[in-house]
Amino acid sequence: MNKSIHIIGTGLAGLSCAINLQKKNRKITLYEASSLCGGRCRSYKEKDFNCLLDNGNHLIIKAYKNTFNYLNKIKANKELLSNKKTFYPFVDIKKTEEWSVKPYSFILPWWLLINSHRPAKISFMDFIKSFKILFAKKNETVSQLLEKKSLIYKRFWKPFTIAVLNTHPDEASARLLTKVIIKTLFLKNDPLKPFVAKKSLSDSLINPAIKKILNEGGQIKCNKRLKKIIFENNFADEMIFNNEKVRIAKDEFVVLAVTPNVASKILPNLKVPKKTNCILNIHFKLNKKHKKIKLPENSFFVGVINGTVDWIFKKKNILSITISAANYLNKFDNNKISEIVWSDVKKTFNLGNIEKPKYKIIREKMATFVQSPKEIYKKPKMHTKYKNICLAGDWIDTGLPATIEGAITSGYNVANYINKI
Ligand SMILES: Cc1cc2nc3c(=O)[nH]c(=O)nc-3n(C[C@H](O)[C@H](O)[C@H](O)COP(=O)(O)OP(=O)(O)OC[C@H]3O[C@@H](n4cnc5c(N)ncnc54)[C@H](O)[C@@H]3O)c2cc1C
Repeated sequence: MNKSIHIIGTGLAGLSCAINLQKKNRKITLYEASSLCGGRCRSYKEKDFNCLLDNGNHLIIKAYKNTFNYLNKIKANKELLSNKKTFYPFVDIKKTEEWSVKPYSFILPWWLLINSHRPAKISFMDFIKSFKILFAKKNETVSQLLEKKSLIYKRFWKPFTIAVLNTHPDEASARLLTKVIIKTLFLKNDPLKPFVAKKSLSDSLINPAIKKILNEGGQIKCNKRLKKIIFENNFADEMIFNNEKVRIAKDEFVVLAVTPNVASKILPNLKVPKKTNCILNIHFKLNKKHKKIKLPENSFFVGVINGTVDWIFKKKNILSITISAANYLNKFDNNKISEIVWSDVKKTFNLGNIEKPKYKIIREKMATFVQSPKEIYKKPKMHTKYKNICLAGDWIDTGLPATIEGAITSGYNVANYINKI
């Protein structure tokens, strides 16, 4: 008889779990609360723009090993886009300076030795001095270990920390950042090569997975919000959804691939990271007047230093701006935010007084949890006290930050565990 595996949540963690589960003698069902799959990595049809928009720009780097394995399995490895060479262009809008960081590593981060590969006016010795961060203690934040007034802080550590951890260096765990540094700056071949979805997040990362799951006999049920699980002894016995009840046999599994706040409501006494950080994305629809907007060396993105904006991405006539660790912007209305952001865009591309185009703002208020020393140690393991319930998501203790790679790795780990039973 086919045993059921019930996966709650169709974000990348849930999808990665489904993709990696062995299908023989198993019936796989995914349940999703909303009408769309993809969770925090999704696209939607924007009527006013007459196109598909992503909820936010997502950067993938070559070091995301499990993400590339997932893309291979869902046959979507050609659905990502990258620049030919590995480079991160930057503009300092206060000092009107431009440069590119070219972090091509091979075994060692030898790019640090080459002047033109480092951020402008940053020496090799500046990097050596700041590598004391590699010896961070458990409770130290990034800012506690670096000189905040230094140029290397402004031009490298601050944007790097915010991009990787969606947390300001004043709060971000230096230990967690160190793990990322070791994985990305050392022992790898070109690990920081950046990629984005070619057409949309859904086209690249979500729809091909859905297709594979359905083709292999799995089921995906949208608009099913899990409200409660009834337990018997240490087993999940029944799932109560908004519009359905599902009995669970003791040899079946429930994978809770939901957000931490939801998991902690469903599983009493589960300790999870609670404090969250917003990522704000604003999409501008460009027209003929904005022809002057050209990204450096035909890159698909540029980093902004000394502004409110962190990154600017361009895909055809859509200019998409990302501001991470953006809780401080939640007090402003959309019009005010669009003015602040457009002012940074004008400075970045020297646009003079050109009028602001049509825009859409997406505030993902719970984009990730705050990756501070206090919060990261609340990350639970995938096993729970219930014998047939496992946890997956970017907030599970995989040793990785809350990213696409963290989410996909956690789903993969749960699938591996279930496959062995
Ligand atoms: C704007 C933005 C930009 C980002 N940029 C990057 C980036 O550049 N690079 C990077 O690596 N990462 C980035 N991330 C992080 C990345 O998107 C997440 O780490 C990842 O998508 C999390 O996947 P997940 O499956 O763990 O969670 P989610 O995607 O949140 O999935 C959880 C799913 O569970 C569903 N659910 C919740 N409650 C219930 C319920 N009761 N019943 C049924 N279903 C339920 C939700 O609807 C959702 O579909 C970004 C995130 C955001 C928001």
